[in-house]
Amino acid sequence: MSDPLSELRVILAEVSDINRASAVLGWDQETYMPPGGVMARADQLSTLRRIAHTRFTAAETGRLLDEAATITAGMDPDSDDARLVKVTQRDYDLSCKLPAELVAEITRASSMARPAWVEARKTADFSLFAPHLETNIELNRRQADALGYAVHPYDALIDRSEPGMTAAQLRVLFEELKVAIVPLVRAVAAKGDAVDDSCLHGDFAEATQLAFGMDVVKQYGYDTSRGREDLTAHPFCTGFSPNDVRITTRVSRDFLSMALFGTMHESGHAMYEQGVDQALDRTPLCRGASPGVHESQSRLWENLIGRSRPFWQGMYPKLQATFPAQLKGVDGEQFYRAVNKVMPSLIRVEADEVTYNLHILLRYELEMAMLEGTLKAREVPEAWNAKMQEYFGIQPPSVSDGALQDIHWSGFAFAGFAGYTLGNIIGAQLFTKIRSDLPDLDAQITAGEFGRLRGWLQTNLYRHGRKFTPNELLQRITGGPLSTEPWVAYVRAKFGDLYGLAA
Ligand code: ZN
Repeated sequence: MSDPLSELRVILAEVSDINRASAVLGWDQETYMPPGGVMARADQLSTLRRIAHTRFTAAETGRLLDEAATITAGMDPDSDDARLVKVTQRDYDLSCKLPAELVAEITRASSMARPAWVEARKTADFSLFAPHLETNIELNRRQADALGYAVHPYDALIDRSEPGMTAAQLRVLFEELKVAIVPLVRAVAAKGDAVDDSCLHGDFAEATQLAFGMDVVKQYGYDTSRGREDLTAHPFCTGFSPNDVRITTRVSRDFLSMALFGTMHESGHAMYEQGVDQALDRTPLCRGASPGVHESQSRLWENLIGRSRPFWQGMYPKLQATFPAQLKGVDGEQFYRAVNKVMPSLIRVEADEVTYNLHILLRYELEMAMLEGTLKAREVPEAWNAKMQEYFGIQPPSVSDGALQDIHWSGFAFAGFAGYTLGNIIGAQLFTKIRSDLPDLDAQITAGEFGRLRGWLQTNLYRHGRKFTPNELLQRITGGPLSTEPWVAYVRAKFGDLYGLAA
């Protein structure tokens, strides 16, 4: 066998197998592993990561990529093979730019920072975490330098996960969002008691909640012969092939939204992964296009469907029959309003659709300042609180509910937050196109029929995996570039109606 494309595919399949084996170990660690397994698991994961990295960045991979490129040059540039070589070449170049010592330093720093963050958060003492954050800032800057950038170090970091995105473009997007959201939040706050969400708080048996959530997402189209749900402290979705994509959730006995909307969210990620064309399996193309595009899918099923009026017109009678005593006297419209209550709050993961992007804006601005060197780690809590005051009009009573609330900065995930906002924007943009292609979508949603919607996503998005960049996908699907307009129009219409604001 001397066909370089086939030889390249063999290497990529091995690397994929190793990475997926790591993912299985990671899933086990979060779900069922006893605490005593921690040290051995860290060794196993770091060994597998090193083997995968070494195999992928070997000179042989580079040589095969060069040879394969001469073959795919004559092919349709959108063919699986041509895209495989193009995307893999980019991954390869990025991986090779990072010196092994820097990668090792990053891994070490993250494993030290994680327990320090946990302890700092538990004791509300930011000083325990500050030195680790300072190291992470420094390492992120060195990483950006190694990857290279034209204007801002953030460019290198965001372009790696969201190909084609820049700090300057994000700044424009966030400015557009801020102009739309801040007045909307004020207008809603002035009518704060228009929505009552007390029906979400009560005594809801956990097992019943979980079963109801799974019924909903199976109806969405999450295939449990190729997936399953387990409980974890932080919900996530992980896939070991398109035929084994798992989700996790958490459940609160006295708050109905947590498990239900968390499960809907993760099922959106999972259906995307289950829908990738099987021909792309065991290659770097066999996953979502980017974190932002992935988040567009979780948000679509959680919010655009799961928090919509047509959905609850159809689903509420079932929910009420499941919890007859708890939901006695609450009608479907009241329930729809309750799950959409807007409330400036401290915690990002609990934020409503309107205020959510402000939480991301705050983190984006702080990350930019940290990378520029104008904000030191020890100054982060004060800067955080000032922005909370400016955007939300509230102050965290403790740094644990402020600058220490997210796990991200304890790992090595600068520029990772932006994907959440991109997901909201992309989701609304896709949904506008879906609505024009499926004019009776609302009736289908109320009837609990999601097959045509999922079929649309399968045809236009899921099957492509990572073949196209986020921008290419948007262009192909909607005919235009990334735009905040559909999202802004969506929240203005939905929450204007909910809160009786003048149009
Ligand atoms: Zn998500």
